[in-house]
Amino acid sequence: MENKVVAIVPAAGLGERFGRGTNKPFSGLADKPLIIWAIETLQSLPEVVEIIPVVKERDIKLCSLLIEDYSITKVKHIAPGGRERQDSVFHGLSLVRDKDSVVLVHDGVRPLIEASVIKEALQQLPGFDGVVVGVPLKDTVKEVRDGTVMNTLKRDMFWAVQTPQIFYYQALYEAFDKAMADSFYSTDDSALVERNGGRIKMVQGSYTNIKVTTPEDLLIAEVFLKMKAGG
Ligand code: C5P
Repeated sequence: MENKVVAIVPAAGLGERFGRGTNKPFSGLADKPLIIWAIETLQSLPEVVEIIPVVKERDIKLCSLLIEDYSITKVKHIAPGGRERQDSVFHGLSLVRDKDSVVLVHDGVRPLIEASVIKEALQQLPGFDGVVVGVPLKDTVKEVRDGTVMNTLKRDMFWAVQTPQIFYYQALYEAFDKAMADSFYSTDDSALVERNGGRIKMVQGSYTNIKVTTPEDLLIAEVFLKMKAGG
């Protein structure tokens, strides 16, 4: 893939399920703040020319100090977060200058993403408007309303979607612009591109690419890290 990649790293959530009085993206995982793990992996990829973290307004200073501490050279701007994840990603997207770039969105709270998975996803982009990384569901999914099962889905057709999600800038910007104009919100970037008629490729990632949501997830992430280190 020829285009330069700009990575947007949303990490401006309220973190309510993580616990009050904590600041999830800056909590420690092993010896490093959570958000630094994903940023370091992105920094290590030659294809990625710029990284735009998106953090709560009051965390911008803290984030820029960490970027310096960890010698991250590809962060030039830090965007302020918005009310919903979609608003945060849009703030990051508004800072992308090169309209020919490929935009990669990766949750700042998914520290265990592997460079090889990102490379594979980037390779799959030509011919599609976007590529998402996900894993086949292990559990069966049921539709439930008021505690009553309405429907059971055929498991082998369903995947859990993660990040990174990768798009050509124009396809993503148009999809975001339209969604914002229609006040359409989704927790998933590719859903906006699909809604705009875009074709999205699914690439199988790893079950270890968890989103750290609750404090227990940090413990699970530590176990996965030890596994990877062979310990
Ligand atoms: O809330 P959710 O689990 O979908 O969050 C996924 C990612 O999006 C997290 O890294 C979170 O910090 C980020 N986010 C954001 N701005 C928001 C809400 C979530 O950057 N308003």
